[in-house]
Amino acid sequence: MPSDGATRTQGAPQTGRRSTTVNPRAAHLAMALHCVAEQSGEISRAGISAATGLNRSTACSLIEELIDGGLVREVRDTGTTTRVKAGRPGTGLGLRDDGPAGLGIDVNVDYTAVCVVDLTGKVRYKHVVSEDQRGQGTREVLDRIARLARGAQNAAEDDGLILCGSAVAVPGIVDRRGATVTLAPNLGWHDLDVAEVLPADVHGERATLDNEANFAALSEQDLIRDGASYLYVSGQIGVGSGIVLDGRLYRGAHGWSGEIGHLTIDRDGPECPCGRRGCLERYAGHEAILRAAGVTAGAGTMLGVRPTAELIAGRAAAGDPATLAALARAGQVLGFALAGCLNLLDVGTIVLGGIYRDLAPWIGPEVEREVRAAFLGARWAQPEVRAAAYGAEAPALGAARSVVRDVINDPMRWLAR
Ligand SMILES: [Zn+2]
Repeated sequence: MPSDGATRTQGAPQTGRRSTTVNPRAAHLAMALHCVAEQSGEISRAGISAATGLNRSTACSLIEELIDGGLVREVRDTGTTTRVKAGRPGTGLGLRDDGPAGLGIDVNVDYTAVCVVDLTGKVRYKHVVSEDQRGQGTREVLDRIARLARGAQNAAEDDGLILCGSAVAVPGIVDRRGATVTLAPNLGWHDLDVAEVLPADVHGERATLDNEANFAALSEQDLIRDGASYLYVSGQIGVGSGIVLDGRLYRGAHGWSGEIGHLTIDRDGPECPCGRRGCLERYAGHEAILRAAGVTAGAGTMLGVRPTAELIAGRAAAGDPATLAALARAGQVLGFALAGCLNLLDVGTIVLGGIYRDLAPWIGPEVEREVRAAFLGARWAQPEVRAAAYGAEAPALGAARSVVRDVINDPMRWLAR
């Protein structure tokens, strides 16, 4: 059962927030569409009948409905000799890539990113605007989001896609309904309805909101498919995490889980935008690493780019002592915090995302060392520490994919439009 209490269709990976219906026809449509999604191009009507336990005429009827609704297409002959329904051969079935599409938006402290994915999860459009949004008016930032969303909508339509929804990733905590940003300290936002500003004609529904690390965690498709338990830690200006237990995102009682960046490392440490002192992100966040490495904004400007994880990685690869020391220290503090999380959650994998993905060769070993020292179960089982599959694009990608997964989880909702 997902943490948001929604009733979901059997076999559906828990990603978005919308609940699915318990109508039997709707549940069967979702089962059939899941089979197609998991074995796109490789499964026939007969295969769906076998996989779902539904009789062949029912399976064929469901597939016809999904084909007529623009979600599934016939791909090719699977080469099987199975014949179903009036002699039809075992034609392969796949998801359509010219139907519904999802819009993902990532509003972060120093950039805004949008991306559009089709039903197969493939990225069809993306656009990133780098701009430090701290100190800007809320309206200015929201107007930028709306402009980028409209641009993405136009690009999707030009590409023959139909946007069916949007999801917005924010660097903060979001209320459990996914409607309001409760608090985003680095943006200076609280109790803000971001979804309200998106153009209503983008998708005809309100956007859903979630924490950027939660959406980024959902971009790790192979782990979700395996039903894995993992902690995705995302290094940005702040540090967030997405907790995935048995393939399902754990949002917590209020939707505020995963705020690892505000774990207290030292109560007398440096001030944090959250109002407390000595939070993890003050030691292991992007700016903390830059500062410790002696990299200033000026250095980045001279290079024609803002200081980025690539810049830090380049200095580390060149053996710069200050950078190596900064990364070691950040990795130690991060590992210390993660070992505490492991003692609580016992997840099997730690995924290093955001800037930590590029910095994993230096931060990863420090994290492993700290985990070995402080995780009680380390003698018997070492959690895997791995770099994320995607970098800065992960939150927008995960957000967009959550939208199309909602269609796969509840195709009747789409078909009824
Ligand atoms: Zn804090």
